[in-house]
Amino acid sequence: MLLKIEQLTKSFGGLTAVNQVDLEIEKGKITAVIGPNGAGKSTFFNLISGFHLPTSGKITYKGEDITTLPAEKVARLGIGRTFQTTHLFEQATVIDNVIVGHRLRTKSGLFDAIFRTKREKLEEQKCLDKAMECLEFVGLTHLAQYPISSITQEEKKRVAFALALATDPELILLDEPAAGVNPDETDGLAELMKKMVDRGITVCLIEHKMPMVMSLADKVVVLNHGKKIAEGTPEEIRNNQLVIEAYLGG
Ligand code: ADP
Ligand code: MG
Repeated sequence: MLLKIEQLTKSFGGLTAVNQVDLEIEKGKITAVIGPNGAGKSTFFNLISGFHLPTSGKITYKGEDITTLPAEKVARLGIGRTFQTTHLFEQATVIDNVIVGHRLRTKSGLFDAIFRTKREKLEEQKCLDKAMECLEFVGLTHLAQYPISSITQEEKKRVAFALALATDPELILLDEPAAGVNPDETDGLAELMKKMVDRGITVCLIEHKMPMVMSLADKVVVLNHGKKIAEGTPEEIRNNQLVIEAYLGG
């Protein structure tokens, strides 16, 4: 098992956003996490990726206990992620976003990343090839020198993928990768996720677009009010009464 999550819980004051969730992510598979708004999906990703400290529970990655590791250490161990709201520097170019974003995630020095020191510049040079390789993977080399503000939402999603790929993840967590993207563009993003799997990357995604989830996922996990209410193949989930009720606002 690549990632093993046991009884994972996160409380914010009186609210338990993630409540005793167990989950196993198998290498090479696509796992989808679904559930109504506020179900705790993004919090779940924040816990795995080290952005939040769990209240209780355990996260094991490749046999190593990563429960309390900070985000940059988790990233260095091979877990990449994208955010529900894409954090990109609108005025900077696509390529600079991949380089800087990559450095922000893997190094602690926000100061260094923004006010580039000489050492940073040298390291950035080394990052450039990597960043270009990632842009090529997501099909955006032609936009490398364009400012983020000039590209489409779908292209921004691809930039976010490139950013996550720049750390060479073995596992990638994608938080609503197709949100805000035109229906006719979602197929391209789904293809990109399959391409990641072909490259040996294990994909876990949060997504609301059910046709995409149903056609892509090997396993679907359903959260509602912080609890895992179902888990199974897309076919099993489609016919699960608890899931249907959760989506109807039960
Ligand atoms: P989802 O991604 O499934 O829509 P979230 O994980 O974003 O849900 O949120 C789950 C619940 O936790 C929501 O009620 C949300 O308001 C709450 N929550 C998320 N992050 C925080 C936080 N940093 N502080 C307080 N409450 C939070
Ligand atoms: Mg969310």
